[in-house]
Amino acid sequence: MLADKYSAVRQQIRLACENAARSPDSVSLLAVSKTRSADEVRELSLCGQRAFGENYLQEALDKIEALSDLALEWHFIGPIQSNKTRPIAEHFDWVHSVDRLKVATRLSEQRPAQLPPLNICLQVNISDEASKSGCTPDELPALADAVARLPNLRLRGLMAIPKPEDDPERQRTVFAQVRQLLEHLQHRQPALDTLSMGMSADIEAAVLEGSTMVRVGTALFGPRNPPSAR
Ligand SMILES: *Cc1c(COP(=O)(O)O)cnc(C)c1O
Repeated sequence: MLADKYSAVRQQIRLACENAARSPDSVSLLAVSKTRSADEVRELSLCGQRAFGENYLQEALDKIEALSDLALEWHFIGPIQSNKTRPIAEHFDWVHSVDRLKVATRLSEQRPAQLPPLNICLQVNISDEASKSGCTPDELPALADAVARLPNLRLRGLMAIPKPEDDPERQRTVFAQVRQLLEHLQHRQPALDTLSMGMSADIEAAVLEGSTMVRVGTALFGPRNPPSAR
């Protein structure tokens, strides 16, 4: 079952790449495993999936511990409280949800010396929603400059969660705005190579607009239970 959904999502990404005239390996798949058990993550890893995304710190740490026999890559994609940065710096390979310098500074200070630099995406609040997560497009250039100077981080690019939108053309418009923000940053920081955008409902639009990493939960694992049922 998980294997069937996994190959369907892989196929969807391949087709989207074809439609976008992009190489199929220009887009990587981040499996979003929040609310899923360690056993489900293990099962998906046996299908060949290596990168997993988590939103809730304690739940993630439990899974990372339970699956430490596997060579998985862990991505933190949820809101970050600045007093909870240490376990993120110690146990993750990537963080997609950095939206302020205070958090980035702490992640850099707390990154263990024996580990490679922590890969960072800056989260941008692109739909300008009431949601507090993500910096504004105006704040991006200064934040990117400052984060790029931190020694134990490697700034990779941008992450965005546009507000849900059914119309594929409108999905594309917002993703194109994120791509343009990255292109703008690349004038000063040409090494930036990551656009973390696209989820189960808008994979195709995201790939057409240049996503390099889609974050997919529901299409792989099925619908999540609401938090109250967990
Ligand atoms: C939950 C979540 C996803 C996955 O969403 P689906 O619609 O289940 O694919 C992707 N990105 C972030 C930041 C999430 O919180």
